[in-house]
Amino acid sequence: MNADARPVFDFPLRTQLFIDGCWCAPETRQRLPVINPSTEETIAEVDAAGPADVDRAVRAASHAWRAWKQTSGAARAAFLRAIARGVEASAEQLAALQSLNNGKPIAESRIDVGDVVATFDYYAGLAERLDEPGEAIAIPSDRHRAVIRREPAGVVGLIVPWNFPMVTTAWKLAPALAAGCTVVLKPSEFTPLPELALAAIVEQAGLPPGVFNIVTGAGTDVGAALTTHPLIAKVSFTGSTAVGEQVMKAAAQSIKGVSLELGGKSSIVVFADADLDLAVDLVIGGAFFNAGQMCSATSRVLVERPLAQALIARLADRVARTVVGDPFAAAVQMGPLTNRAQHERVQRFIARGKADGASLVVQGQAPDGPGYFVQPTMFVDVPAGSAVWREEIFGPVLCVRSFDTEDEAIATANDTEFGLVASVVTRDAARGQRVAAALQAGVVWINAPQLIFPQTSWGGFKKSSIGRELGPFGLAAFQEIKQVLTAADSD
Ligand code: NAD
Repeated sequence: MNADARPVFDFPLRTQLFIDGCWCAPETRQRLPVINPSTEETIAEVDAAGPADVDRAVRAASHAWRAWKQTSGAARAAFLRAIARGVEASAEQLAALQSLNNGKPIAESRIDVGDVVATFDYYAGLAERLDEPGEAIAIPSDRHRAVIRREPAGVVGLIVPWNFPMVTTAWKLAPALAAGCTVVLKPSEFTPLPELALAAIVEQAGLPPGVFNIVTGAGTDVGAALTTHPLIAKVSFTGSTAVGEQVMKAAAQSIKGVSLELGGKSSIVVFADADLDLAVDLVIGGAFFNAGQMCSATSRVLVERPLAQALIARLADRVARTVVGDPFAAAVQMGPLTNRAQHERVQRFIARGKADGASLVVQGQAPDGPGYFVQPTMFVDVPAGSAVWREEIFGPVLCVRSFDTEDEAIATANDTEFGLVASVVTRDAARGQRVAAALQAGVVWINAPQLIFPQTSWGGFKKSSIGRELGPFGLAAFQEIKQVLTAADSD
């Protein structure tokens, strides 16, 4: 491997469970291998917890909640800011760990770390405002006063996937702690290392024991135990739609709240008046960032027919020239997929695309292996009923179709069971806003890359989400609303 920025870690790599303020071994005594997706070598082993360990973590969180929910928002904000500063101080090492374990290019990992810092700082700001008295509500009675208070939901289970470890965690952990919840976090079994490093930083921030717990292990053991535990008030899950359905069913048994961030199959709509250079950049970024392993991948390209030939030619050239390889090499634009199962799944999709009659325009270069590398791939004239057009691929595969009218573009973009995001590229400002309004998606970017600011919102329509993360919505997801109606003469 070409090692331009080989990581040297000077903080201890934690591989145990963190429960009630202590690093400890699981009762199972089992360990899980962690694989470097660029080399397929085992880089570490981490603890594989079982239901008894989950129970221990949840009980610790439940005990800690009694005091944590009474802390002031300002005090919780100070912890969040301490975590943000800790992440900043170890930024380069965390980025390297992310690239080592997830496989994304180091430049992308640095963006992830910046996002984590911004998220903790943002929710620190919201936590500070929680010390303000409840919100008085105008009611049609001069004999009563109504006040709305927002209180922490309780002990929450956070379950996250492998494509943006640390970021997905920060989007849940920061608002949960800000709200006054205590937490049991379950990382993906594929990418526990960055999460464990983040956990060590959370520990250094000095949170009281039990407020934050991390339990590594398999989804079927740890995840399932979290979603059914009677002391968990709410589960916040990010992952596949299939597992999201299981989480919802499991949570229903004890009527737990759930927030779900699931799959996507999103479109980028390019009109004939678009700035061609910008459109090429936006399509490539939307499809190939993180090797396409993005719930928000805009891997369906809808291009207005007069621009189709020019856009396809430019895209094919970029796909052919994409540098795939070692995530630490400066020139590399795309790393491997994060795990073997995903690698096999994407290869199957590419074969199905060909079999379903999509026209394969280009497959770029990729190292032969070892490593879960996939050639960036582009299909055109993709049949609307084909699997590559309808199902989430979660890999570097771009599918292009042409359209003739704005209405047709909107209808085609909306013709999916998902509704996470969409992009529109046009020089016509009014059309940009009109199409954004018509698209069934939780986020729409107009002539803009996939920027996500913690102050805004994240989540989608239809099968993509239940609830929203980020912004005040992300905080509200971890709060209960209490109305206090007081007779005026009781003061
Ligand atoms: P996954 O659903 O396989 O796993 C997600 C997490 O759930 C993992 O930690 C896993 O161990 C755990 N899990 C597995 N079985 C479980 C069970 N029965 N009960 C509870 N937890 C269980 O997803 P993945 O393969 O890790 O991630 C890829 C998926 O995540 C894609 O579909 C992608 O679209 C989605 N995703 C969505 C968003 C979003 O914001 N909407 C963001 C990132 C990823």
